[in-house]
Amino acid sequence: MSKIGETILQLDLKALEHNYRFLRSKLAAKTKFLAVVKAFAYGSDMVTIAQKLESLGVDYFAVAYTKEGVLLRKSGIKIPILVLHPQPINFTELIDHSLEPNLYSSKILKLFLEVAKQKGQTNYPVHLKFNTGLNRLGFLENDIANIAEQLKETDELKIISFFSHLAASEDLSEKAFSLNQIDRFKKICKVLHQKLGYTPFRHMLNTSGIINYPEAQFEMVRSGIGLYGYGNSKAVDSKLVPVATLKTIISQIHKIESNESVGYNRAYKSEKPRTTATLPLGHADGIGRHYGNGKTYVSINGKNAPIIGNVCMDMIMVDVTDIDCQEGDEVLVFGQNQSAEDFASSVNTISYELLTAISSRVKRVIVNS
Ligand SMILES: *Cc1c(COP(=O)(O)O)cnc(C)c1O
Repeated sequence: MSKIGETILQLDLKALEHNYRFLRSKLAAKTKFLAVVKAFAYGSDMVTIAQKLESLGVDYFAVAYTKEGVLLRKSGIKIPILVLHPQPINFTELIDHSLEPNLYSSKILKLFLEVAKQKGQTNYPVHLKFNTGLNRLGFLENDIANIAEQLKETDELKIISFFSHLAASEDLSEKAFSLNQIDRFKKICKVLHQKLGYTPFRHMLNTSGIINYPEAQFEMVRSGIGLYGYGNSKAVDSKLVPVATLKTIISQIHKIESNESVGYNRAYKSEKPRTTATLPLGHADGIGRHYGNGKTYVSINGKNAPIIGNVCMDMIMVDVTDIDCQEGDEVLVFGQNQSAEDFASSVNTISYELLTAISSRVKRVIVNS
């Protein structure tokens, strides 16, 4: 019998520490480390992960939205928090919680400046993002004159950093493109340093950037997926340890005859007598319907059990015909058995999507804290 008793997402803080130390070992000692903890720390447990990383000495956090940063502040996180994609409707709340916005266009800069003025701020820390090829968020090179103009004779804001984001840091067939992005970023920073008369620090690399372009680490790097144990390549994955393991149990075992069906729409039909197990895990927990019908498997007592039929909201059924198992036994979905990357790739997606989809209904259990 398993001790877990229900579906859990086990989070291993030793693994987190290992991954942090591995990534740090790729960097110069003086390079600052920003840990990206957006989306509940990639679907895990933002507060627990952030507290651990703060204790390990990370320099900065990043979240996507203001609300995520507010949660970190309310849980006692003290180090600076960059909000990567703040919405103007939240600017007051952002300032009230000492969060640091990414300002990525003249319009956003103007709106933030107004709120900072209104709230009587001086030297409020902000970050400017530049679009060097991703074409997602960011100022362009020819906005520089505008930025300088907007900031002239204002003391409400202080630019803490300039940053940009690589479009294909994990893809070495796009190396020329990435190097061009790095080059453009350097030039932009140089011109702006001169115009501003002070030198905000610079950052550009995500996890795969740290691995593939360490020469562009500048004064800080921003890592997310690597901290959680994935590195967008087999070679890097082998050096990292997955933080999250999704586990469940067997609720019920059925013996079915040939020519029976399993699950909704009778999507699975047995050609031979089969043994099936029903698990308390479904698309409402983050295992989407596309994982059904034999696309992938879970592990029970060291053996692989394919998911059969359609994934239901709260359950999946697996084939355990050749597995010695009982109701209540523990089931490994991804993490310690197959990696989240392998599980995700069975339906042509990536670990990032699978991890961040694990819903709040799944209990988080912290180990090795
Ligand atoms: C999410 C994000 C990161 C983290 O990327 P990983 O590939 O998870 O390391 C870094 N920078 C920005 C701007 C991001 O949006």
